[in-house]
Order: sequence, then C-alpha cells, then structure tokens
Amino acid sequence: MKKPRALRGFRDIYSEEWEKFWSIYETFRERLDLFNFSWIETPILERLSLFVRSVGEETDIVQKQMFSFKDRGGREVVLRPEGTAGVVRAFIERGMVPPKKLAYFGPMFRAERPQKGRYRQFYQIGAEFIGFSGYLSDVEGVLAAYLPLRDLGLEVEVRINTLGNVDTKNRYAEALKNYLEGMDDLCEDCKRRRERNPLRVLDCKIDGPRLNPPDILDFLSEEERHNFERTLKKLAEMGIPIVRDPNLVRGLDYYTGIVFEMVAKDLEAAQSTILAGGRYDNLIADLGGKPTPALGWAAGVDRIALLYKGKTKRRPLYFVVRTSHELKEFAFEILVRLREEGKRADMLYEDRSLKAQMRHAHRSGARWVVIVGEEEYVRGMYRLKDMETGEESLVPL
Ligand code: ATP
Ligand code: MG
Repeated sequence: MKKPRALRGFRDIYSEEWEKFWSIYETFRERLDLFNFSWIETPILERLSLFVRSVGEETDIVQKQMFSFKDRGGREVVLRPEGTAGVVRAFIERGMVPPKKLAYFGPMFRAERPQKGRYRQFYQIGAEFIGFSGYLSDVEGVLAAYLPLRDLGLEVEVRINTLGNVDTKNRYAEALKNYLEGMDDLCEDCKRRRERNPLRVLDCKIDGPRLNPPDILDFLSEEERHNFERTLKKLAEMGIPIVRDPNLVRGLDYYTGIVFEMVAKDLEAAQSTILAGGRYDNLIADLGGKPTPALGWAAGVDRIALLYKGKTKRRPLYFVVRTSHELKEFAFEILVRLREEGKRADMLYEDRSLKAQMRHAHRSGARWVVIVGEEEYVRGMYRLKDMETGEESLVPL
C-alpha cells in the first residue's frame, strides 16, 4: 500500500525542532511580559472578507496565497494568512478598551512556493499595540521586537522606513507611479502593480533592488519627518542596529507611518526576514471600530528556529534499568518516585537484557542511568551512573 504523505509545503515539526519552537516562544513570552503584554488566541478560520478588507485586495496574500473555501453553510472562509486582522477583529468585537497590548503565537497559512524557510503552514509570534500613538510607542514597538531576538542570541539588522499617513502615502504612490511609467523592463507582476498598487513594486524581490525611486522623506509633513527622525535617533542611542531602508514598504495595505523588518545575516536573502511590522493607524476604523492608532509586528518562528543555536530547556533524563525481569515492579516504583521528585524519568516496559536497556538509555540521551539490581534491592538502594563521566555511586531510597 502507498505510504501516507503530508501535503506539499506542510510539514511535521517534532522532537528537537519543536523544542526549539518552545524555547523561542518562552523567550518572547518572558520578554513581552516585561512590556506588560497579555496573550490572545484567535480562531484559525475566519471570514474571507476580514482579510480582503484589512490586508488589501491588491496584495500577494489576497491575490494568490490564501487557502479559502466555502464552508458547509456556504460562507466564504479562509485559513488565516496572518494574525493582525484576527486580533483587531477580536478587539472590536469584544469591545476592548484601549490601550491594549496583545500577543499571539500560532500557525498561519499561505499557498506560496515551498522552499527552505518558506512553508504553507508556518508559525508566527506577533504583538499588537492597540491605542498607541507618538514616537515613543514606535520606539517601544521596535524594542519589543528586537529584544527577544537578542535574547535568543540572533544577530539581526533592523531595517526601518516610514510611509507617512494616508495622504502622504497616496501622494508618494502617485509620484512612484510616474517614476515607473516609462520603465518597460519590469516583471509581469510589477507591470500590473504599477497601476493598482505602485508601492508593492518596491517590495518585489526581482525589481525592487534595482530601482532608484523618489524618497518618501521628501513627501512627509514637517511633523511626520520630525517624529521619524526622533524615532531613529532614540533607537540608535539605545544601541539598536538600525538601518534606514528607503525601499522598505511592506506587502500589506494597512500600514501607515513607521514600518520595519529584522533581517538575519545567516539566512539566504529571499528568506532572511525573520520579523516584520509597522504602524496601522487606520485599520481599526476601516474594520468598523472607533479610530484607534496602533502598531504591531510578527516574527517567523520557523525561520528563527533555523538560526537558533541555544540550548532547549528540557530537564536531564534519568533512565531506569534493571538487572533481572523480577525487579521490573521495583524499578517502576523508583521511576514513579523520581518523577515525584521533579525529574524527567523513563524506563523500558518490555523484558530486555541489561545490555539492551543500557543501549536504549544511551540512545535516548539519558544523562543519568538508575541501575536497579538484586543486591541493591535488598539493601534498599540503587546505583546511579553518570553517563558523562561513567562514574557510579550508591543512592539510598
Ligand atoms: P516574505 O517577504 O519573506 O514573503 P512577508 O512580507 O510575506 O515575508 P509577513 O507577512 O510580514 O511576511 O510575515 C512576517 C514574518 O513571517 C516574515 O518576516 C517571515 O519570517 C514569516 N513568514 C512569512 N511567510 C512565511 C512562510 N510562508 N513560511 C515561513 N515563514 C514565513
Ligand atoms: Mg510573503
């Protein structure tokens, strides 16, 4: 019979890799706790219209990356491609009172071409600052994203830009359209984008890097420019490795104001962005809430796991073995007791030779082996073998 296989772009994450996911999650959790975040779990399935209205009709996500279908009641639904829309929906629907800091961790789904660091189901840890305005909250947003990555021992560059408010963004888009007008060597996607969403051309992995477009800085109002400069100055003073990237615009429509990406030096360029975010001051009103300034970001956990070299946080393993089958129950008692003492402990249940049990303990990565023998049983003791040094000692029960 043919073996079952996961769908293309979908994968199983297990053992060591899943341990890394937990370490990454715990690191973000601890750091975001210092920022006074609460956590939220929103549904994986949402209405299609939520993402069309928030992420934007002309974005890659909505145009070609969503897993959408009709449910049994004929409703148009989608496996969420990102986390912000759901959190904002919950904020509005639950009548939450700003200011609110909400963080999440969970799977997202996008039908894109699978490759290393790019999957159809991937995991994000995200943070939303809802009801926050002013340059210090921009600084705080970047800090809350950068510090957990630093805690994880990752070296990143923080690329930063601003899009200004809707008016600024529109005027810039117009100028960009004029600039792109005469260019006939753009890729097919960009020829379409140039008309309907010119900012997206800058984000294109093919055309973006070789353009020399007008700079948004020349389109900002006095106040926007001042705020952006103060944000950059403050972050630099705090030792955050920021680089202004005038071509950084982000692929989602809801961004206004500051936008940023954290890029890892050790990953291939197309998958090197491990975290991205920005300000979205109009999204909450656009989705039917009261006008509320906000910003947020999402980190790609799968990509961070590719880079993470730190230790995972498991307890050392105690493996219990016995010299004869008659001692199985006694060995089990000791096993239960070890766990009561807060130790990670295991044993084999089928009857195997001592040698086979030892081999299994070694393969399982045991740090300690607890050897239960006839003689020790009579004396109410067990032998403890240190698997790193090979030394043995007697331990009374
Ligand atoms: P990219 O330009 O790499 O496609 P994006 O701009 O589409 O990224 P965002 O929507 O901003 O990504 O998501 C934030 C982060 O989530 C990304 O920086 C990345 O680390 C991660 N991410 C996005 N899509 C995927 C994917 N298909 N597989 C794994 N991680 C992903
Ligand atoms: Mg993408």
